[in-house]
Amino acid sequence: MATKVAVVTGGNKGIGFAIVRGLCKRFDGVVYLTSRDINRGTNAVAELNKEGLNPKYHQLDTTDPRSIEVFRDYIKGNYGGLDVLVNNAAIAFKNNAPEPVAVQAEQTLAVNYFAVLSTCELLFPILRNGARVVNVSSSCGHLSNIPSADLRNRLKDPSLTINELSDLMRQYIEAAKQNTHASKWGNSSYVVSKVGLTALSMIQQRMLNDKDIKVNAVHPGYVDTDMTSHKGILTIDQGADAPLFLALDAPDSVKGQYVWSDRRIVNWDGPHP
Ligand code: NAP
Repeated sequence: MATKVAVVTGGNKGIGFAIVRGLCKRFDGVVYLTSRDINRGTNAVAELNKEGLNPKYHQLDTTDPRSIEVFRDYIKGNYGGLDVLVNNAAIAFKNNAPEPVAVQAEQTLAVNYFAVLSTCELLFPILRNGARVVNVSSSCGHLSNIPSADLRNRLKDPSLTINELSDLMRQYIEAAKQNTHASKWGNSSYVVSKVGLTALSMIQQRMLNDKDIKVNAVHPGYVDTDMTSHKGILTIDQGADAPLFLALDAPDSVKGQYVWSDRRIVNWDGPHP
């Protein structure tokens, strides 16, 4: 039987690092810690080695299609396919960041939405039967965070395509450039990016329904990492719990869902939990 392969993006620190740690302990196959920066990634691998864990390493910058292609060809050539993909890498500007909203919108959407989309477009063709994809979203990715009812209706429309969703994400960036975004989209590019990612996860599941592949979005909880300036209340291992549950343990019936940090399936277009 082929060796199973699990991959985590942005695995060099924070929740991604703890997801790699958890997979190393429990996944029946090889685990790839990937990072955009080779030094940060190999240092993280060395740290796990000290714990007696042995993840493999590969460079992967999710905003660079060439980097994703090199990684895809490497995995395909060496293992034939992929069994677990955890799309964890993301960025968040701090509340007091000096960058104008237009810059924040473009950069946040580039990493948190468009880079996940291109990672999936390039890696989904090598997913094997039974594969699980975990898109690390956020409580910010709940649909109720979008003020406009019209936009919410479009985002939850079960016939929404990826191209239409990507157009909506581009419309947000344009609105941010004109400074006309707030009334319809709210004030946070991070929120828009994570709502977009959650909507994307549901479309991806619909497109994969004829295959034995599960895609879910997850809110890891409020976690003590660089992203939260270490204000989060959960440890990185606690934050990794729900993503690991979806990658390894969730029943096959859990697909196309938005799952909370306590493993509960949450109604994405219902009231905010
Ligand atoms: P973090 O500590 O800031 O780590 C983010 C990781 O993403 C880093 O490894 C970073 O790499 C990587 N990354 C960023 N851009 C990348 C790119 N273009 N290519 C590859 N890797 C890239 O954040 P975290 O708190 O662990 O967050 C992990 C995930 O959980 C994110 O999706 C975040 O939105 C989500 N989340 C976090 C919280 C929380 O409370 N922490 C709550 C809800 C959701 P570098 O080290 O090179 O920058």
